[in-house]
Amino acid sequence: MEPESLWVKVIKSIHSNQRKVEAIPFKKSLTGVWKNIGDIEKDFIKNSININTSLRSKVRIGDKTLFCGIQFPNLYQLANKKRASVLENYRILNGGRLWEWAWLSALSSTEDKQQIDNLMERLQHQVLPQNNDVWVWKNFEQQEFSVRNVKLSLGQNLDLNLPPNMFTWNNWATSKSVAFVWRAIEEKVPTAVALTGRCMNLPDVLCKTCGATEETAQHILIECNFAKRVWEAITDWLKIPMVNTERTVAEWLSELLDLQRIRKIRKVIHAVVIEAMWILWKTRNEKVFSGRQGVLQTVIEEVKEASFQEGLKQRSKYGAISRSEWWDFNLSM
Ligand SMILES: [Zn+2]
Repeated sequence: MEPESLWVKVIKSIHSNQRKVEAIPFKKSLTGVWKNIGDIEKDFIKNSININTSLRSKVRIGDKTLFCGIQFPNLYQLANKKRASVLENYRILNGGRLWEWAWLSALSSTEDKQQIDNLMERLQHQVLPQNNDVWVWKNFEQQEFSVRNVKLSLGQNLDLNLPPNMFTWNNWATSKSVAFVWRAIEEKVPTAVALTGRCMNLPDVLCKTCGATEETAQHILIECNFAKRVWEAITDWLKIPMVNTERTVAEWLSELLDLQRIRKIRKVIHAVVIEAMWILWKTRNEKVFSGRQGVLQTVIEEVKEASFQEGLKQRSKYGAISRSEWWDFNLSM
């Protein structure tokens, strides 16, 4: 579970609901909750439950909730403490709330002033009860978050999600690669574009591999020149036609698989593609964090090896397949 935004979207729903302000949780104050979530993460994945839409904070005194810079970019830039909680930004004076902002320098431009006016305007309309923030789970808003409630909601088969993720689980691929692709389909992996959406300030959002366009999951996994070359080699190995890469991850996956008539082969190909996406992501991380450029041949070898050793051999009906059969993609058994 990666840390969430620096300033959380407190302001988002102030207008819609004065008492139940929603915000995305941030990691630091949530150790217990995140640990609990880690324990049941597999259930989330299997049930396609979106943690971001299901777990919410209720802001009360604001001790566990941060402000977000998205709607107030100037204020965020000027804020002295970018990780300050709501609580740290006000004190109670004569029964009223006195907002105290610590700025790095005075708010001077017209835009700065407009933003602070907007922010204050919104905060004035909000009533904060005087007890600690709590984390709540969708459909159990009256109680504090607990693993028990989550399990109950799973048992009740409640619809916890926004539009359902079309991704099909594949138990012939490693679970970390499946979990990754599941999140990538919804652009929920920490690409440059996704991080910017979470209020992180990045110098640029371009793909570090090609530098040609914005770095989204769709770009890294399908559209990037490097990814295209990987897919050309892999489809060649799998003896299937290459699919047009101007697609979302979900569309691309289903188009590729729709071409396969035989169910077992389709499942094998699906597992390979999932593993390959995971390796493309790891290759991207090597480039971003260590500056090491991915090498096409290494990536292809790694895909074949991982899908053979960790995937097919251990998990599928093709456990008896030999290395040379796999390298030739000869599944005629
Ligand atoms: Zn690229």
